[in-house]
Amino acid sequence: MAMDFGSFDVHAMKRDHADGTGRVAGLRGGAPRALATEAVHAGRDDLAGQGLHAPPIDLSTTYPSYDSRGEAARIDAFATDGAEPDGPPVYARLGNPTVSRFETALARLEGTESAVAFASGMAALSAVLLVRNSMGLRHVVAVRPLYGCSDHLLTAGLLGSEVTWVDPAGIEAALRPDTGLVLVESPANPTLAEIDLRAVAHACGSVPLLVDNTFATPVLQRPAEQGARLVLHSATKYLGGHGDVMAGVVACDEEFAGRLRQVRFATGGVLHPLAGYLLLRGLSTLPVRVRAASANAAELVDRLAADPRVARVHYPRIGGAMVAFEVEGDPHAVIAAVRLVTPAVSLGSVDTLIQHPASISHRIVDADDRRGSGVGDRLLRLSVGLEDVDDLWADLDQALEAGHAAVSGEVSREAVAER
Ligand SMILES: *Cc1c(COP(=O)(O)O)cnc(C)c1O
Repeated sequence: MAMDFGSFDVHAMKRDHADGTGRVAGLRGGAPRALATEAVHAGRDDLAGQGLHAPPIDLSTTYPSYDSRGEAARIDAFATDGAEPDGPPVYARLGNPTVSRFETALARLEGTESAVAFASGMAALSAVLLVRNSMGLRHVVAVRPLYGCSDHLLTAGLLGSEVTWVDPAGIEAALRPDTGLVLVESPANPTLAEIDLRAVAHACGSVPLLVDNTFATPVLQRPAEQGARLVLHSATKYLGGHGDVMAGVVACDEEFAGRLRQVRFATGGVLHPLAGYLLLRGLSTLPVRVRAASANAAELVDRLAADPRVARVHYPRIGGAMVAFEVEGDPHAVIAAVRLVTPAVSLGSVDTLIQHPASISHRIVDADDRRGSGVGDRLLRLSVGLEDVDDLWADLDQALEAGHAAVSGEVSREAVAER
């Protein structure tokens, strides 16, 4: 039984998760507040002064104004640098006050000047690529594995990008005059491979580094502090946290944010205000959810690592609630047999999900490229939720048994599928 990244100390990690006192630099001159404080207060600072407690949801698509000269000036300002208009937006595609609250809060948590929200994680990544492509910087240097659809978007060249795939050590040598972006995920989806972000940021020189921080969340890792210019989230996952919102967001400096707002305005991938509301609400429990789910995950890692039906467990040094493991038995039979755990793609919800990356999340990646980046056919990806850990283990234990039986011939595949 082999354990990836074998040197981490699960018990120390559980302790770290239990106090979670990461501080976030005060961006607006105030004293730095702890992450847990920002999570429940950022984006809401004005509410008490307005006599409100819950943030209002603004569903307006348009905003009345009797001052059309003033509106013209605000549109000109937006066209120049993409700054959010002072006062109400002109039209909802330019911005929305409820969505802005979520953007403000996420920027605080990631320690960036700004953040720009989109209709999905893929819309957010597309906007970043469009910003760079529009400057003639179409070349992207990227490290596999990435989320399957991010890989596909680059490999298929759907937005006109050209990608060079490298190992982290090969980034510097791969840079060209037309390189507009370096793209990495750490921990990566689905293998949980980690990258030294500080070293990678250094290798990028003046080329913007985008780190997809969906798996770690700002609770475990703030890539901007390590030199990333752009931090991307599929907010569909941990930020929303309940499996009921689709969204994406890029945290970055205000200059890049302005370009992203202009692309969002012109291409229309805006986030709905109800989704913005739910995301702001989700952020307030993010630190608590991530720490509790991570403690569950660390316990399951111990049990999986000691189990003869499991060939290999992947778990990142920084911890988190994602676990990947390779089974000795039939991974499809394991998926077919879970009962408490939900067999579904996606991750980051309060409930535990399991999926087979080679069949689902990374199906769209060419099979050789997929296997070459460590996404084997026996790999399963588990997104650990907030259930009782013994209940989770009981379900995984019987599912592993079904996977084992399917291979050793005690139960036919058909019988497993019918159970
Ligand atoms: C899901 C995911 C995405 C894509 O996000 P959507 O919200 O589904 O568009 C991007 N990166 C990672 C790491 C993901 O897990």
